[in-house]
Amino acid sequence: MSNDIHDLYQELILDHNRSPRNFRVIEDADVQREGFNPLCGDHYTVYLKLDGDVVADVSFHGSGCAISKASASMMTTMVKGKTRDEIRKLFERFHAVVTGTERAGGSSEELGKLAVFAGISEYPSRVKCATLPWHTLHEALFGPPPDIESSGATTVTAE
Ligand code: ZN
Repeated sequence: MSNDIHDLYQELILDHNRSPRNFRVIEDADVQREGFNPLCGDHYTVYLKLDGDVVADVSFHGSGCAISKASASMMTTMVKGKTRDEIRKLFERFHAVVTGTERAGGSSEELGKLAVFAGISEYPSRVKCATLPWHTLHEALFGPPPDIESSGATTVTAE
C-alpha cells in the first residue's frame, strides 16, 4: 500500500485510540461479555442493549493497546442499530479481512473502514488485538464462535 494510504489508516487508528467512541459502561445492559487477550494484555468488556433482534446500544470499557481499542471503537460505531444477522455477516467479513483470507477492496463501503486492519494479517500477534473486541461481541450475541481457539482470546462470563 502507498505511504499516503498507510498514513491515513494510521491516523484512523490513532484517532479512535485517542478518542474512542462509545467508551463507557452501560449499567443496565441486557448482555455483557468480557474479553481478554493474554498475549498483549488487552482486556475489555462489551455491553449491549437489545431491542428484539436489533442492537439498540453498544459500548465497551477496559484497557489495551491502540489497535485493540481502535478496533473496539470502530466496531461499536458499525454495529449500533444493526440486526444480529447483519452483525454476524460483518463479523465474518472482518475476520476474513484481518486474517488475510479476503481482500478488503471488494467489500462494502462500511467494511472499507475496517480495511485499516487488513495489513495486520502479516502480524499474527496483532491480529488477536484487532479481533478481540469482535470475538467478545460475537460471544455476547451468539455464543463462542467455532474458531475461538485460534483467536487466542479467552472470554469470561460476567453475569
Ligand atoms: Zn493488543
